[in-house]
Amino acid sequence: MRLILLGPPGAGKGTQASAIVEKYGIPHISTGDIFRYNIKEGTELGKKAKSYMDKGLLVPDEVVVEIVEDRLKKDDCKDGFLLDGFPRTVVQAEALDEVLKNMDISLDKVINIEVDKEILVGRAVGRRICKNCGATFHIKHNPSTKGDICDKCGGELYQRDDDNEETVTKRIQVYLDQTAPLIEYYNKQDKLVTIDGDKEINKVFKDIVVSLGSDL
Ligand code: ADP
Ligand code: AMP
Repeated sequence: MRLILLGPPGAGKGTQASAIVEKYGIPHISTGDIFRYNIKEGTELGKKAKSYMDKGLLVPDEVVVEIVEDRLKKDDCKDGFLLDGFPRTVVQAEALDEVLKNMDISLDKVINIEVDKEILVGRAVGRRICKNCGATFHIKHNPSTKGDICDKCGGELYQRDDDNEETVTKRIQVYLDQTAPLIEYYNKQDKLVTIDGDKEINKVFKDIVVSLGSDL
């Protein structure tokens, strides 16, 4: 399966990505995770990305496209992949089409997770992530049973720097201006499936699996 997860910040892309990659045995490629890893490691890329991320802005297209192109050429992507948070602009989507064409492959589906704007800020501000394994929790909707400690691996949970109300509000606006046009872009390519993300996490996952034509 060659898949894209589309949706505003806080829609549940990362949460669903973990379950999707487990079911289909494909690598999870999150451009946000790649940037956060580079920030943690103190690389030049991390420094550059952070200056945009802290403001809720998108990292320039040419930087992101190069990273994704290199990643898609790795061996583990040959039987499929799940892109999470990429593409985020029409320029990125067009570049991805070109990369895939040159690799002689095409996308199967673009999963568009829809959630009302009013719910998104609370989702992102309440998000907590494990420093060790990257698992995502929510202080109200999906808490770890051990408080600030990860249920899955015992790691420490943290809040992303850009998950404060002001930056999240900016990120949602950036999504509406620059990323939402991709819904029509992939609809025209007949790749789009739209999923109601305002349901319980497992129910959203089941809807995704059914929309991909797979057995539960
Ligand atoms: P995204 O990757 O789209 O930004 P996440 O998957 O990180 O979103 O989810 C954002 C927050 O919302 C997390 O704290 C997550 O635990 C929570 N969440 C995800 N899906 C749901 C859901 N269906 N219902 C309630 N909370 C959810
Ligand atoms: P995410 O983890 O998907 O919420 O992304 C966090 C931040 O990383 C975004 O607000 C952007 O600043 C940056 N980012 C992630 N993916 C992209 C992308 N495809 N294009 C531009 N910026 C991105």
